[in-house]
Order: sequence, then structure tokens, then C-alpha cells
Amino acid sequence: MPKTIIVSNRLPVKISKEDGTLVTKPSEGGLATGLGSIYKEGDNVWIGWPGLAVSSESEKTEITEQLADENMRPVFLTPKEIEEYYEGFSNETLWPNFHYFNQYAVYNQNFWDAYCKVNAKFSKAIEEIVEEGDTLWIHDYQLLLVPQLIRKVFHKLTIGFFLHIPFPSYESFRLLPWRREILQGMLGADFLGFHTYDDMRHFLSSVNRLAGLGNSNGQISLPDRKVLVDALPMGIDYDKYANVAAAPETLDREVRYRTSIGDQKLILSIDRLDYSKGIPQRLRAFELFLERNEDYIGNVSLLMVVVPSRDQVPMYKQLKEEIDLLVGRINGKYGRLNWTPIHYFYRSFPLNALSAFYRMAHVALVTPMRDGMNLVCKEFIASKLDKKGVLILSEMAGASKELSDAILINPNDIEQQVDAITSALSMPLDDQVKHMDVMQKSLKRYNIHHWVNLFMERLNFIKDEQRSLETKIIDKDLSENIKKQYNLANERIIFLDYDGTLTGFHGNPLDSKPDEELMDLLTGLIKDGKNKIVIISGRDKSTLNKWVSSYDLEIIAEHGVWFMSKKKEWSTAAELNGDWKDDIQKILDRYVDRTPGSFIEQKDYSLVWHYRKVETGLGEIRTRELTSHLKYITSNKNLQVLEGDKVVEIKNSEINKGKAAKVLLKQYNADFTMALGDDWTDEDTFLAMPEESITVKVGNSASAAKYNVPSYLEVRKLLWKLIEQ
Ligand code: UDP
Repeated sequence: MPKTIIVSNRLPVKISKEDGTLVTKPSEGGLATGLGSIYKEGDNVWIGWPGLAVSSESEKTEITEQLADENMRPVFLTPKEIEEYYEGFSNETLWPNFHYFNQYAVYNQNFWDAYCKVNAKFSKAIEEIVEEGDTLWIHDYQLLLVPQLIRKVFHKLTIGFFLHIPFPSYESFRLLPWRREILQGMLGADFLGFHTYDDMRHFLSSVNRLAGLGNSNGQISLPDRKVLVDALPMGIDYDKYANVAAAPETLDREVRYRTSIGDQKLILSIDRLDYSKGIPQRLRAFELFLERNEDYIGNVSLLMVVVPSRDQVPMYKQLKEEIDLLVGRINGKYGRLNWTPIHYFYRSFPLNALSAFYRMAHVALVTPMRDGMNLVCKEFIASKLDKKGVLILSEMAGASKELSDAILINPNDIEQQVDAITSALSMPLDDQVKHMDVMQKSLKRYNIHHWVNLFMERLNFIKDEQRSLETKIIDKDLSENIKKQYNLANERIIFLDYDGTLTGFHGNPLDSKPDEELMDLLTGLIKDGKNKIVIISGRDKSTLNKWVSSYDLEIIAEHGVWFMSKKKEWSTAAELNGDWKDDIQKILDRYVDRTPGSFIEQKDYSLVWHYRKVETGLGEIRTRELTSHLKYITSNKNLQVLEGDKVVEIKNSEINKGKAAKVLLKQYNADFTMALGDDWTDEDTFLAMPEESITVKVGNSASAAKYNVPSYLEVRKLLWKLIEQ
């Protein structure tokens, strides 16, 4: 029975020692709840660090055995590993870089080495129990290399990855010295989920710039498989928060708290101690609010919970001191005997207490400088059973993309924060209920269970896509089979596209001339008297003349404008008109002027704008502009505008490779017909081929071809195989 394995840095339990015995308590985090429905079932398991340094072997065995009963497997880390992999690379390199706090990022080779080592340790722990057919779901920024490490050993495994923090813009990500390794690590997954569309597009942009791989609808074509990338905002366990908010214990607490702080309005903020949370900025905004609104003095308090985190690290210690100072200053300046402006708690609270805070608060002030998602704002909404209350939310939190009914603010804009507090406190009840209702409906629907199901659905979707493609990939058996058909045939015709099919791509199109191996291959193919080899290319005839006309083969140039048979003269079947070229050339020239690195290729009956050497991204934008411009101009001119691999080609519309292929197919009575191509101009060839033909697409995008191979290298291998004795 295939199983599902969850992997995250921390296991979903808290382990402690009480009176010499180990005690495990389930953690209350959203992820643990959401994935509870998965890892607790059958043979499924959750792999992670148990959260404490254990040195004695007997204790390790004891923990391992105890956790095994609850479907968990520990990965033990040494204090040095925790220091360098977790506190070091994860929290002092990746965390600041991914949250745009690059001034805090530490680039330390030892940290990176430890990160690699611990990722390999996790990978080993997975390898011990995983089997082909299982599903692996890896979580978060501490384990970015694990997908690729596992992929190397288990090629077919179903691997999903979810990033719980933001993925930064390429401009931030590129600063990391190990950016390529990190991307390669992540691309080992089949499906990569991010909280927001922005995170997803940032990731895709880094993949494009660093690995040169584009995407189509979030699908990246790697040589061996397709990878899916999607935005999938994580929800909360809505019912849990709504139920706790209705529980008698919560109501008791609310009454108690109210009695002790009085009946003034409450603004609530809850965060972990972290520079990404915007706590000092929020305090300054609250101070300015009090300064400007005397009538609120004595009538509104800020209830601020800061959960201790890493406060031995100097940067965090400093932040804590800054917060302490600001709170002291504000309370000292505005406080009265019977009123405290800020109730500040530097500790964590149990769920019932948090729930009572959520219930009591008139306003939740959630203003991170950057946050992958932010769950506090969602929990606040779910706890508002009477729908009264207002959420002020930073637009830099992932949650803001779903909660547009909140008052959205830029946390750097103190004026806007002050205005938001003022309007939140005076918002009419009807409006509060209206906005809260919209947000509650959305959070109820997109809850944590929905998120888990959707993740699995997307992962299965891309796996199915890969499988359907796999049946088309030419493997050993298929190539044996093709060879059998080849051997049995009396007369064969083989259409070979040139660029991308017989050779790779180069920055300069003239650098693609046949190399030694290709020359030998063509010679080998031609030597067999039963073979008619046709080079069918979009290239101009003079280049093909230079490169392949010395071989005894058929050449189709410029997508079918020109034919040459066995070293004789070029001829054309079409009565073509090239008068249009001057006008189009003028337009293309303007695009070349505006786009450094681009150039125009002249052919007899077509013009090509090349942008392979243009800055990544700019070429694609210019292409959109150019094609819509050209499509408008050429609409009544019998011209076609084609987008190829980093090219835009304009040609007479009656010309295509399919028509040209048909002419040759008619001339020869072949009983083995085969066509290979990589571009979508080759689709015309595939469609023109007889039913029983062997049609092969290079690359794994959608095609009319029956089979696929990953690259021109496999094309060469296949052709060698056909001719070997
Ligand atoms: N939380 C908690 N105890 C506290 C304060 C907060 O358990 O005293 C929880 C809170 O309910 C929320 C989580 O901590 O689920 C914070 O998640 P969020 O995404 O807002 O921030 P993170 O700390 O993950 O960056």
C-alpha cells in the first residue's frame, strides 16, 4: 500500500522531560492540524527534528520508539548542526533574504555546508522508509535541497514541496551565493506550492533567469519531466477557532480580562519577536495616533502580545530592547493611574487566552513588513462570532491577497497606519459586519483541509500529466520497436528538422553548423540506399547550401519555399511575392533600435526577428508588442506571423513545412515514414505524415507527434541506433 510521508524541519510535537520521563505533547500549529488527517493514517509518517538536542543513544532509541507509535520518525541533530543549519543558514541567511531584509543576511560557507549536510541527513532518513509509489510532501525553507536529493535516488517518486515564507523577487534571490544550487534543489519536486501569485511568479522568474527555463501556465519543462508551480494560500482550521471562541472557558476568560482592564476599546496585535513583523513601526504609529487624537486617550488600549523567539541572537535582542523602550516611552508619556495605553506581554498564551483576546478586540492591527501568509489575522476573523470588529492588515502579508475586505495598509506609511486606526475605531457596526461576513465566508471555504486537498490534487494532476507524456517518451523498448520497423522497410523517408532537432541552439544562428558527429551521422544515414533523408528547415537556402548540400539528400529550405534534390539546383513550387518585405523590415528595424541584442535575419520569402541574446524578459515583452503590431499590419496581406524559439518569423501564409513534406511524400512510395522536429512549425510536418508514421517531438510540450525525446542528443542516439548493424 503506497504511503504518504510528510517532511518538515520540526515534528508536530513538543517533547520535554518531566521528572526524568519523556513527555510528548501535540503541537497546536495550523500545519500539524491540517496534516493530522494525513500522517496519522495507516503507514503514513511525519519525519522531522524532535526539537531538542539528544546525545545519549538510549534516549534516542526511547524517543524513536515513542514517536513510532504516533506515526513519526525523528531526525536527530547535533547542537552544532542546529547552530549552523537551523539558526545559521535557515534563519540568518534564507529568512532575511526571502523577507527582503538583506542587510541582516549572513553569507557564511560553513553555514551553507551544514545546510547541505543536514538536508542530506533528512534525505537519508526519507530513503530509509520510502518506496517507489509513495508520496512525499516536503515543507519549507529549511529543506530546499531535499526534493532534488531524493529525486536523484527515486526518479519516479511523487514529490510535493510547499514554501511557507515568501519567495523573493529575483533581485533579492540573486544575492545568495548558492542561488543555483537552491533552485536546482527545489526543482527536484513535481509540484511546488507557494502562498501567493507573487511568490509563484518570483520563483518562475528566478528559474527563467538562472536556469534559462520558461514556463507555460506554471508548468516548467525539465529534460526528464514537467514541474508544476502554483499559488495555494494556506488556510486555518476555521471550525477549531470558531468553536474555541464559543467555549465556556474562553467566555470566562474574557469576563475576567475585561474586569481587570476596564471597558475601553481594544486594539490587538500578536506576533513572534521578529524584525519582519513591523512591531516598532506599529508602536510609533500608535504613539502618533494618541498624539493626534486626545479624545481617545483613556478610551483605547493596545493589547500587544510578542511571543519570545531567538532573543539570545544579537539582532533579536536589539529588537526586543527597542520594543521595550518604545512601550516604556509611550506608557510613560500617556499612561494614567486608571489607564494603560499599551498592555504588553512578552510571552506566549494558550489557545483559550488567545481566543478571548480575539473576541475582545475591536481592532486587530496586523502590520508585518513582510509575511509569507500570517495566520493571526485569519484566526481573529474566525473568532469573531458576532462579526463585530475590524482588521487592519499590511499589504505585505500573503493573507492580504485573500482579505481585501480588511483595511489594507503599507506598514512603512505611518500616516496611513494612523488613519487606518482612526477609521477602524469609528467604523459603523453595519460596515464591520458586512466586511467580516465576506472575509469569514472566504476563510471558511479556503480552510486548512481545503488547502491540503488542493495540494494533493495539484500534485496528482502533474503526476498524471507526466505519466501521459511518459508513454510517449522513446525509451529502450520503443526504440527497439522503431528499429524493427526500420529494418523491415524497403523504402524509407525521414524528415529531419535542423535547429533544435539535429543540433542545439546558439546565440548566433550561424554557429550551428554541423559538427563532426552530425556529419558522420548524416553520412551514415545516406549510405543506406533505402533511405531518403530530407532536411526540412526554416533556414535560408544559402546557409543550408553551405552546411548540408554536399550530402546526397533532399533539402527543404525556408519552411517549404525552396527544394533541392541530391546536390542539384534549388527550385521553388510556389509563386511567391516578396514585395511586402520592405515595409515589414522597416517595422522590425524599429524594434531592433529599441532592443539591444536583437537582429533581423533576411530570407528570400520571410523575415525573422531574433531575440536570443536580448536581456531575459525584455525579449518576451517586445515579442508581445511586435506580434500584435505585425498581426494588425499583416491581417489582409496573406502573411503569417509565427513565434518560434526566441524568434518571430513573418512569411507568406501559403508556405508551410507540411505542404512541402506532402510534395515529397507523393514522389516516393515509402513504407517507412518518419519525421522529427522541435518547433511548432514542425507540427505542420507531423500533421502531414501518413497515419502509421513515426513522428517525434523534441522537448515535452504539447504536440501532434506520437512520441517525444528530451533533446537533440537523444535524436542523434535514436538515429545512430537505426543505422547500426
Ligand atoms: N500563537 C500561539 N501562542 C501565542 C501567540 C501566537 O500559539 O501566544 C500562534 C498564533 O495563534 C498563530 C501562530 O502563533 O497560529 C503565528 O502564526 P503567523 O503565521 O501569524 O506567524 P509566524 O510566527 O508563523 O511567522
